[in-house]
Amino acid sequence: AAAPPKRYCITLLPGDGIGPEVISVAKNVLKLAGSLEGIEFSFQEMPMGGAAFDLTGSPLPEETLLAAQKADAVLLGAIGGYKWDKNEKHLKPETGLLQLREGLKVFANLRPATVLPQLVDSSTLKKDVAEGVDLMVVRELTGGIYFGKPRGFGTNEKGDEMGFNTEVYATYEIDRIARVAFEIARKRRGQLCSVDKANVLEASMLWRKRVTAIAADYPDVELSHMYVDNAAMQLVRYPKQFDTIVTNNIFGDILSDEASMITGSIGMLPSASLGESGPGLFEPIHGSAPDIAGQDKANPLATILSAAMLLKYGLGEANAAKRIENAVLDTLNKGFRTGDIYSAGNKLVGCKEMGEEVLKSVDSPV
Ligand code: ATP
Ligand code: MG
Repeated sequence: AAAPPKRYCITLLPGDGIGPEVISVAKNVLKLAGSLEGIEFSFQEMPMGGAAFDLTGSPLPEETLLAAQKADAVLLGAIGGYKWDKNEKHLKPETGLLQLREGLKVFANLRPATVLPQLVDSSTLKKDVAEGVDLMVVRELTGGIYFGKPRGFGTNEKGDEMGFNTEVYATYEIDRIARVAFEIARKRRGQLCSVDKANVLEASMLWRKRVTAIAADYPDVELSHMYVDNAAMQLVRYPKQFDTIVTNNIFGDILSDEASMITGSIGMLPSASLGESGPGLFEPIHGSAPDIAGQDKANPLATILSAAMLLKYGLGEANAAKRIENAVLDTLNKGFRTGDIYSAGNKLVGCKEMGEEVLKSVDSPV
């Protein structure tokens, strides 16, 4: 007899703008890829962001956070929009997202940047530099200068106004992000580049010392170190040299945005945020794109690929993840493109039709 299906509970947070459109498509893809691998999902859709603020007065209602914490994984669309830009800080959709990350204790942010052969022309780099790029930035998400104390405004001896922030990392924070990165590098091409500013910053000196110490547990991974200024340069000069990059919160913020532009297509890029245990948070890197919301123009592939990351990194279901990744490649090979990645000769489709094409490929792989 066939094994009973594995069951997972997924909390869906469609959010604002194009969020509901791309989540609805990604949900169907996730469902089908799962069922072909003996996986049964139950989906629970909860309000989040501006939509939740309109409904409940809070961008992250208590019930939404509780549902997310109880789930096996969380798939988020996008949040925010002009409508809520004037909200007080604690009622902004973006604050809800920060609270969600905090509530899920996700400290590792994974952002792959892959130049797909079908889309090499949308890269900002020359074709021969862009071709074949396949890297992953692992960014520490809950420590460093964005959270360090003391912080604030003050006045110096001369009466000049000052603003100040503090870069702080403790051993446990470095060790746990390093372990996540080594595990990922191990499953990729076995190369990890740790990016810091250890020639200047004490927090970086400790970072380099701890990453080097943790490397002893991963003899199969080749560790290198790079200063952040050089890394920023190398990323545009010769990005193919990178497999997995691990870095702190602020450097990762900057380098992952830089890396995303190498691929040239914001509508294609997924992300994952993982904690020690408990559900991971998976979301496209793009925003709510209010300019195209409700017009069936959004590219759903970033969210579909986030669903693949959910399977791979969130649930350990690599086969189902591979099905989705392959289906996306198939669909691109057949020439289907949303507006953001369209070039002459392709077949222009909307969000829903793109989703239907991916579903066909999940169902009958070539
Ligand atoms: P946020 O502050 O929420 O991150 P943003 O201002 O950075 O938002 P996005 O919402 O990501 O910007 O949109 C930037 C541009 O990219 C917009 O013109 C938008 O239409 C386009 N865009 C973003 N995501 C997609 C997508 N999935 N498909 C097509 N176009 C997109
Ligand atoms: Mg943005």
